Amino acid sequence: MAILPIRTFPDPVLRNICSKAEPATDFIRKLAGDLLETMYNAPGIGLAAPQVGECVRMVVLDITGSTGDEVPYFLLNPEIVHSEGSISFEEGCLSFPELSVEIDRANTVRVIFQDLEGTPVTLEADGLLAVAIQHELDHLEGRVIMDYASPVRRDLYRRKVRKILAQEA
Ligand code: ZN
Repeated sequence: MAILPIRTFPDPVLRNICSKAEPATDFIRKLAGDLLETMYNAPGIGLAAPQVGECVRMVVLDITGSTGDEVPYFLLNPEIVHSEGSISFEEGCLSFPELSVEIDRANTVRVIFQDLEGTPVTLEADGLLAVAIQHELDHLEGRVIMDYASPVRRDLYRRKVRKILAQEA
């Protein structure tokens, strides 16, 4: 496993629509391990493949963080087939440092996906795990938390990042 650099705004890879992940391949097994290690190291509770520059439909999640009793989920080609209720949560994203946006999501979701070896799995999630799943699945469609912010906040964030990048140059 390796810690990969996390792509941040305005990297265009974050806007790509990802292609299908091929289960039971060395590429996916290795990427899964790297994603997990990168997520724990960040630290974060979810990471999607495009956030490390690989535009395939795979996300890793672990809402326990790296507390020692990890419960990681690897979701390949995930699809939300049912959602209900609503929950509002102040979300951050490893690809958008220093940005947090309050987002309304479904409180309960049922998601179908394949595990790393291609076995179909159905998962019912609510609360924080449901929020994290919806957040990560957005990444696979090129959708990011900035899209949920008001135009004014989007503009402020763009300017802030531009300033930081100018200072680094
Ligand atoms: Zn994110």
